[in-house]
Amino acid sequence: MGVLSHASTFAPTVGSDGRRNLVGLDRAELTAAVAELGLEPFRARQLWHWIYHRGATSFETMTTLAKPVRERLSGHFMVRRPEVSRDLRSEDGTRKWLLRMEDGQQFETVHIPEEDRGTLCVSSQVGCTLTCRFCHTGTQRLVRNLEAGEIVAQVMMARDALDEWPAPPDGRLLSNIVMMGMGEPLYNYENVAKALKIVMDGEGISISKRRITLSTSGVVPIMRRCGEELGVNLAVSLHAVTDELRDRIVPINRKYPIAELLEACRTYPGASNARRITFEYVMLKGVNDSLADARELVRLLKGIPSKINLIPFNPWPGAPFERSDRKQIERFADFVNAAGYASPVRTPRGEDIMAACGQLKSDSLRLSAAERAAMAQVIAEKEAAQSL
Ligand code: SAH
Ligand code: SF4
Repeated sequence: MGVLSHASTFAPTVGSDGRRNLVGLDRAELTAAVAELGLEPFRARQLWHWIYHRGATSFETMTTLAKPVRERLSGHFMVRRPEVSRDLRSEDGTRKWLLRMEDGQQFETVHIPEEDRGTLCVSSQVGCTLTCRFCHTGTQRLVRNLEAGEIVAQVMMARDALDEWPAPPDGRLLSNIVMMGMGEPLYNYENVAKALKIVMDGEGISISKRRITLSTSGVVPIMRRCGEELGVNLAVSLHAVTDELRDRIVPINRKYPIAELLEACRTYPGASNARRITFEYVMLKGVNDSLADARELVRLLKGIPSKINLIPFNPWPGAPFERSDRKQIERFADFVNAAGYASPVRTPRGEDIMAACGQLKSDSLRLSAAERAAMAQVIAEKEAAQSL
């Protein structure tokens, strides 16, 4: 399957004045960038500290650099965040930012505060080329991969908004990252990997791999690399226990069916009882929520160090499913628990601002009747294209 259906060639890392944005450069690139100006390599280390650890947004504040050096740098470079075009707060404290890039593309980042931690839900693409039936992002046609800088910038923008610079060793407001926003992160692996390596660097933003979870719909050939090269926690969007149903609701299953997916999980580097793989399972009323499904789920996951995350379906305008009844979700959870699996039911957060799982879509806010009709049309077209 192709990664991009509507690729953009615009390079958002360069401003209209020709200055290059340093946010998103890794150590080697930063060293090369300062060398271009004839500056010594230790300047790159200083910049790294100011940009990624202190959160500086201008060269003027970098007081350990001599004034002429700062002036030279600001003549060629910038330290820029994406523009926040909307900042929405939910009654439950969840916050959603709509970010606009230089090419006009928009995408979303969500912050979910909890008592002892704060999780940032980060996007990897604008829209998604996959078309999971229950997912709002999957109805969005315009797609491009996010650059590494745009992925790192989401974390930096959130730190700005939460006022949590310099990056603390164990951030309270921003302690965890989940790659569960818009897009399929393993279809943009190079940029996601580069971004996460920057985010994990102990002398910068410094969020440990143990506090980062990458969720995939099941891009089997890349899963191993993700474990070997990044070592982050893995979450897998399973959602169905038969190929027949998964083919329909998670269409990537036609390419990588359940048996192959579970084999990749079984051999995921670093998976152990201490570091379990999370299997996400969206609860769709009358579709995948019977006790027979629960039984089959337990059978399938046998031998894989796993936990199961039950996600009550989050509705969106025109969605072709309903959320399972609370009682049925409890019954399903009890069965899975009794079989020895931790199976927390994910509490929907930020529903009033369409920030819950699967509700993200750049232009989804406050839909007009005309927009709703347009969305129904998009879904109908996608369904026709897939002859479901
Ligand atoms: N593309 C990746 C990560 C983003 S989605 C993936 O699919 O794994 C994060 C999680 O939310 C996935 O498990 C996804 O299947 C789930 N999700 C999507 N739409 C949803 C909805 N409407 N209600 C509840 N969960 C949903
Ligand atoms: Fe894409 Fe994930 Fe949504 Fe599927 S669930 S359409 S893979 S974002």
